[in-house]
Parts: sequence; structure tokens; C-alpha cells
Amino acid sequence: MRWTMEDSPEQAAFRQEARAWLREVLQPGWTEAIDNGDEEGFGLVRAQAERGGWNFMSWMGTVGESGYGAPLWPKEYGGLSGETWMQQLVREELVRYRLPTFGPNILGVGLAGPTIIAHGTEAQKERYLRHILTGQELWCQLFSEPGSGSDLASLSTRAVRDGDEWVINGQKVWTSIAQISKFGLLLTRTDPAVPKHEGLTYFILEMSAPGVEVRPLRQMTGSAEFNEVYLTDVRVPDDRRVGDVGEGWRCARTTLANERDTIAGVSLDPVSLLGGIRKDPWLAFLDGVADRAEPVTRQRLGQLYIENETKQVTVFRANSARMRGEQPGPEGSVNKVVNAELNQRRTNLAVTLAGMAGIAWAPGDQEAELRAQAFLRARANTIEGGTSEVLRNQVAERVLGLPRDEDPAKAEPWNRALRS
Ligand SMILES: Cc1cc2nc3c(=O)[nH]c(=O)nc-3n(C[C@H](O)[C@H](O)[C@H](O)COP(=O)(O)OP(=O)(O)OC[C@H]3O[C@@H](n4cnc5c(N)ncnc54)[C@H](O)[C@@H]3O)c2cc1C
Repeated sequence: MRWTMEDSPEQAAFRQEARAWLREVLQPGWTEAIDNGDEEGFGLVRAQAERGGWNFMSWMGTVGESGYGAPLWPKEYGGLSGETWMQQLVREELVRYRLPTFGPNILGVGLAGPTIIAHGTEAQKERYLRHILTGQELWCQLFSEPGSGSDLASLSTRAVRDGDEWVINGQKVWTSIAQISKFGLLLTRTDPAVPKHEGLTYFILEMSAPGVEVRPLRQMTGSAEFNEVYLTDVRVPDDRRVGDVGEGWRCARTTLANERDTIAGVSLDPVSLLGGIRKDPWLAFLDGVADRAEPVTRQRLGQLYIENETKQVTVFRANSARMRGEQPGPEGSVNKVVNAELNQRRTNLAVTLAGMAGIAWAPGDQEAELRAQAFLRARANTIEGGTSEVLRNQVAERVLGLPRDEDPAKAEPWNRALRS
């Protein structure tokens, strides 16, 4: 079943405009092939576009120049000064035409931009926002540390003022795409003598600054998607501070809320995250095995289908809130938990159903490689962007109204509180 809402006349007109723009900038035949359900034709048109130099980076440049890359951002910084429903509608059109909703600069567009818009100076908005949208400068997020992940506010990386600069020392970990990023969103401790949430300050870090050392961490998928980042006497000018000194937690909350929305809003399947060449890989998978499955397997497939539909209802609820011009509420946390766990279950089942071919395959068997990679990568889904346990706490507190998770260290000065 497709969950959709009827467009108002204003929304329908905007959707037509966005579609006409896509038709104009994409390879001739791209939108028509999809509109006609011509998978083979679409594959050919896309291959032709790629031979002509089209790729996700070049696409970021195109969409970033158009305003459609971030409809909510102010016009003067590359957006449309639009409303929430416009963003929702553009995302729907991008997904329809197999284009990435965020693209390779997902942390820039999804996290850095909204934080700078909410808390940055005019000079910072002027300097960074357009280059984020066009993908000219990639961004990463330097929040987590070896001793501070879920309890992020307990972090230890120190920033000490020295005239017009800050001197930073510490270590970050799990920093996705740090090795290719131009800038990072950096959360530091500037006052250790006050409670943990009050002593933080937020900076923009240039990743090529002296004293920044990025060490890639290899994952079980074989790729090195995230890194350790060591900061040794790194000097950051005060004009790269975002928000006031000691206001870092307030700014970080903006980043974290946008992170949840960004992750919950996209499919966790890596193929659809970047805009898949194939139709929804989940539906393709179901089509491929459902007919020849054993009764028990059919039961498991049916169960997953039901769970997927249930998830779609919650996604629909969040999307229709956006279409009404509202921000989605706690369903962001619900979606993140459900999406992550469902993705693990479905990739588990895909590997199980493949039998021996799920763990050993002939070199060059792309389908088998993708299946195994999706299975291994899905382990991270319940950790990244907030673990399922912590998000469940949030649902318990904010949706169900249960008592708050106890945190005895919250009111203690950071340098006297117990921490891991
Ligand atoms: C693929 C991937 C990419 C990432 N990218 C980035 C990035 O780019 N930038 C960045 O800053 N971070 C990034 N992270 C880090 C991520 O945000 C943290 O891993 C996450 O917040 C959990 O922190 P932790 O790993 O320190 O685990 P911990 O916080 O140490 O948690 C350990 C276990 O304890 C549980 N737990 C902790 N507190 C509670 C509680 N109060 N109640 C119940 N259970 C609890 C957790 O659920 C978990 O099971 C990434 C992580 C992954 C997996």
C-alpha cells in the first residue's frame, strides 16, 4: 500500500515546478523512463548520463545552485526561504526520480547548515552555507569521544582561550568522513568547573589545521567510513566559534535534533541513501523470493512486510506533519529505532535465505557482495545517531511520560563528577 496525502492546489503547483526543473536538468529521458515504469530504459539513460560526467558530486552542484537542495534555508544563502511542506515535497520528488535526498554532503546539509543558520554569525552564514549546499566543502561531526557517546555532554576535549584564538587538545572518535572533509562541527569543554552541560563551547574546525590528525578505522565491511581524530594544540580563531562561550550544548542540541531528522528521513539502505539505480531494493528482494519460498520463510517475509508497512504509517505521520507546516515530534525517535532494527532483520533474512551463497560467492558477484555488505553495515544502524536503548529512553520520557532516566552527575561540576 502507498501512503500518500493529496496535495493542496499550492502544493500541486510547487510539485509541478520541481518536476519541470528536474526534467530540464536531468539527462533527456530520465524522468520519462521513471514515469513510464521503464526500468531498462532508465538504466540506459542513467549509464549515458554517467558517461557524460554525471555523478553524485556533480548532482550536488546542480541541486545546490537551484534552491531545491534546501528549501527551508533562507534565499540569500541558497535556499528557497520555504516552508516545511516544500522540503517534504522536494524530497518526495528526488526519491521518485532516484536521486539522493542529501547526497555525499549529508552532514553538511543535514547538520552543519541548520546549526549555522540557527546559531552562527552573519559572516559565518555568508562564508559556509552556499559551499555546503553545492558540495564544494564537505563537513563532518566531531562530537563523540572514547569516553563520551550517549552521555555526550560529559566530553573531555579541552579548548583554552589564548587572545583571539582557542587552543584545542583531545580526541574524537567515530568521525564519519573526516578524511575527506574540509570542516568539522567540534564540541569542546571550555569550563571544567561547572556542570557538564554548562561548560561546553561549539566551534567550526578546519580539518587541515596543524595539529589535526585523522586516522581511519577499518570496519568489518572492509571500508573505512569513520575515523579517530587527534587534536594536539590546534589553534582555532575565535571567529570560528558558533554561539556564545558556554552555549555549546544549546547549539549541539540543534545539531542532534537535525541529525535524528536527517537519519530518520532517509532509508538506511545504502543504495537508496544515495539514490538507487534499481527500484526499491526491498521490494525487488521480495519479488525475487516470495513465490518460491517455503511456508516458514513466507511467514517471515510476511512478518517483515507487515513491519515495513507499520513503519510506513509512522513515516507518513511525520511527513504529513511536515506537509501541514509542522515539525515532526517524537516520532523521529520512534522512526529511527524502528528503521534501524527493521533494516537489521531484513538484511539478516536476506543472508539466511541465500544459504551458502550468503557467506561465500564467486569473485565479481555484485549482488552477493551488496547483500553481505548491507548485512554487515546494518550492525551500525542501532548505534549511529543515538543508540536504540537511548532513543527508547527518550520515547519513554517524552511520549509515554515515564520518569526521567536518573543522572546523578548532571548537577555536579564536571571536574568533580564521576564519568566513564
Ligand atoms: C557508523 C557510525 C558512524 C558514526 N558517526 C559519527 C560521527 O560522524 N560523529 C560523531 O560524533 N559520532 C559518530 N558516531 C558515534 C555515535 O553517535 C555513538 O556511537 C553513539 O552515540 C553511542 O555512543 P558510544 O559508542 O560511546 O556508546 P556508549 O554511550 O558507551 O553506550 C554503550 C552501550 O550502553 C548503552 N547505554 C548508554 N547509556 C544508556 C542509558 N542511559 N540507558 C540505557 N542504555 C544506555 C548504549 O545503548 C550502548 O548499548 C557514529 C557511530 C557509528 C556506529
